[in-house]
Amino acid sequence: MNTVSIVKCDDYEFNNVKRAVYEALDEIDNIKLKIIKGSRILIKTNLLMKKNPEDAVTTHPAVVEAIVGYLQDIGCKVIIGDSPGGPFTEWNLKSVYKAAGMLGVAERTGCELNFDTSVLEISNPDAKRLKSMQIIKIAKEVDFVVSAAKLKTHGMMTYTGAVKNLFGVIPGLVKADYHLRLNNTDNFADHLVDICETVRPVFSIIDGIDGMEGDGPSAGEKRHAGLIMASESPYALDTAASSIVGIEPMTVPTIRAASLRNLFSGDLKDIDIKGVRLDEIRIEPFKLPKSHNANLIGGRVPKAFERMVLNTLRPKPVFNHEICISCGDCKRSCPPKIIDMSSGKPVPDLSRCIRCFCCHELCPKKAVDIRRHWIYDKVLKK
Ligand code: SF4
Ligand code: SF4
Repeated sequence: MNTVSIVKCDDYEFNNVKRAVYEALDEIDNIKLKIIKGSRILIKTNLLMKKNPEDAVTTHPAVVEAIVGYLQDIGCKVIIGDSPGGPFTEWNLKSVYKAAGMLGVAERTGCELNFDTSVLEISNPDAKRLKSMQIIKIAKEVDFVVSAAKLKTHGMMTYTGAVKNLFGVIPGLVKADYHLRLNNTDNFADHLVDICETVRPVFSIIDGIDGMEGDGPSAGEKRHAGLIMASESPYALDTAASSIVGIEPMTVPTIRAASLRNLFSGDLKDIDIKGVRLDEIRIEPFKLPKSHNANLIGGRVPKAFERMVLNTLRPKPVFNHEICISCGDCKRSCPPKIIDMSSGKPVPDLSRCIRCFCCHELCPKKAVDIRRHWIYDKVLKK
């Protein structure tokens, strides 16, 4: 039986967060025996893009600082790292660490921030999708990785938690290449599970004090949930966390993919909840992203028309040129390279769009909306 610990925490006041994180981690059986004194540990923090902690896009620095303290108390050498959206460069890392409050965490705790932008090509014969993949070197160099995720909805994957967070070990713009090669939700979910099985986090923790609903992981609305959740199993943790915010776990592609491989059932009955009981948690369901069920049409229309219908009816990215600052981040992150900026503003070729919504995810100005066709809402939506 997998344990998931859930602790209430109403705000980001450091002492409250520290108590909640320590309580949540202490509930994980034998975690202190598993993590050997003197180990080097990477806290793979969700640092998606240059955002302040108040934006609820990145894992809050108070949560990261408490995890650092917990691991340092065991006698570990701790490193904070991620490969955020955009190129994996020291300059980009510096600006994201600064905005997300990680410089302060490093100063106060003496832990390290990763600035090593080396990349390894690793072979992964057991992977279901990519048998060889690039990974940031630090993720393979350390003794253990911790997944420190944020509780958010996600345009492509419906929900992002402990498993999806680990996509950040794929270096910078290589992410776009992998999105393209695994260009549907189920293939991509399989790849995320492959990464999770390669990295094998020693434990995972979700900052669910303030999460994000709607068009996450960056353009949704902040939503208070007041919880810190942790587990040795990232799959059990995501099952519990998605269920708490009103998302049926088996509709989350990563949970479904893990269950098909018998890594975890995706069923709450198979989780031993410690701390706050599920029936004591009262959270109105999170609003889902507009792109939810983007693949619903597949199989519901004759095959010959499917591609045309899919392209017409599936939710699509819509660029608001009034808000757009012409930074080009969407163009750089677009896997099939279908965004033209020759007019100074982004114009996508939607006939070749794979609906990954990376443009939406990485736009710093929320200038990319996801729009559904009215027929999709009226006829096809469940
Ligand atoms: S849509 Fe967003 S990411 Fe794309 S150029 Fe405009 S501001 Fe930058
Ligand atoms: S336009 Fe946006 S949604 Fe379409 S493929 Fe490019 S990044 Fe993905």
